[in-house]
Amino acid sequence: MSSPGAAAGLRGTVYGKPPFAVSAGVETFGPGQRRLRALKLAGPLLLLAVLVIPIPGVHLSVPFLVGLALVLGWRRLRQTERITSLQGHCGCSDRPQDYELPDRLGLPLTLRCPGCREFVKIEGSGG
Ligand SMILES: [Zn+2]
Repeated sequence: MSSPGAAAGLRGTVYGKPPFAVSAGVETFGPGQRRLRALKLAGPLLLLAVLVIPIPGVHLSVPFLVGLALVLGWRRLRQTERITSLQGHCGCSDRPQDYELPDRLGLPLTLRCPGCREFVKIEGSGG
């Protein structure tokens, strides 16, 4: 079962303004869910690898496809949680803004505020 929660301890800063709290929606995955997610990613790649075996020339991509399936599947299997949303109130409007998530998450993170188009730097409040 996925259990959406909220990670605390994130802080956002905009140049020339005081820091503000940023809340993140976090989805956590149980062991069964992790296996299913890994299978959903690796399965089609392995199926494609099997399908291209009889095609001359294209069959050379089989080791690449199998390797990709194993690496991505392993990564998914180890992923225990995922950030689904980032919200902060930088002060440009009356209500908090939903920040667009980048492809790769890591702190510190620099995002554009959808309200004022300012750069918002997001970091852990400890650092
Ligand atoms: Zn803003």
